[in-house]
Amino acid sequence: MNGYFHLFSCCIPVKGAKKAVICDLQRNIIQPIPLFLYDMLVSEDVGNAQFIEDVAYKYGERDKQLIQEYITYLYHNQFGYTTEKPTSAIHINLSEYQDSRSITNAIVDFDLNSKHTLNQIVPQLDEFYCEALEIRYYFPVSFLKIKKDLAPIARSTIKSLEILVELHEDCTLSNILKVNKIYPALKKITITSAQENIVYNHDDLSIIYTTDKIADERCCGVTNEFYCIAETKLFIESVHYNSCLNKKISVDKSGLIKNCPSMKDSFGSISTTKLKDALAKDGFRKVWKINKDQIEVCSDCELRYVCQDCRAYIEDKTNIFSKPIKCNYDPYQ
Ligand code: SF4
Ligand code: SF4
Repeated sequence: MNGYFHLFSCCIPVKGAKKAVICDLQRNIIQPIPLFLYDMLVSEDVGNAQFIEDVAYKYGERDKQLIQEYITYLYHNQFGYTTEKPTSAIHINLSEYQDSRSITNAIVDFDLNSKHTLNQIVPQLDEFYCEALEIRYYFPVSFLKIKKDLAPIARSTIKSLEILVELHEDCTLSNILKVNKIYPALKKITITSAQENIVYNHDDLSIIYTTDKIADERCCGVTNEFYCIAETKLFIESVHYNSCLNKKISVDKSGLIKNCPSMKDSFGSISTTKLKDALAKDGFRKVWKINKDQIEVCSDCELRYVCQDCRAYIEDKTNIFSKPIKCNYDPYQ
């Protein structure tokens, strides 16, 4: 291989304390690379284009072969391309995150004692043009009830619906597919307390049966290298804002309006407070601005722009900038 090597604009190198990755935002691939290759790929001298023969002079004969092997690997695996002459690299504009909506995603929790309903909440989410909703039932629910509960979704702005529900005797595949036919926004359903762990994929619906027993919101907040997603909008959002809580609103199982059901601060009860009034209260948007570059340990992690954050379960409850406690990934190893 010869010429100048450029990464594609959707392939963004990110450096951590001990490792680096290339995030391919088009194919959702997170490719580990060594630090010296990162430094080489982002060097400014030829607009990020590397004249492959030059590496022999810069890095010495000993490393030349290794670097050439890496570049050949990146080239053959479609992370970049070569040109005969040096040309300026094209970069995705990461400097600005734009979404004029004030709320884009929501969580609504229910337990057996919950008094709130989706009829009350979904029309209010529509006012924000909210597109993503996660509903979590911490008890067994029949599909007849789920079908009835979801009625307001059919005429709503919700385009992506996820449901978590405890196993009920009628949680059959055919019933789930019937619900999906009525509500095509349903993209994922997780059935907890199942007898075995099985995953089915049907068109763009994931059906997950898990033996895990999930009693309440404390199930949430698990984040590590296996939960990372390399996608353009999420990446740009993560550079500027919190990758879980930005533009999120939630109603917990007791009907309290919060950033997420696991956070302790409440901004009123859904029975007496409109979502838009909770959103306008002091402090509601405070956590939205905490990005990974401000979070201890995560700021040194090469996965920081592709990893979902958690501000509810953190290592030091007195320090809102401490690492998510449920992440066991160590960027210093
Ligand atoms: S902040 Fe943590 S607990 Fe809350 S929704 Fe996000 S991941 Fe879940
Ligand atoms: S250290 Fe932080 S950024 Fe890295 S995987 Fe864990 S939670 Fe994500």
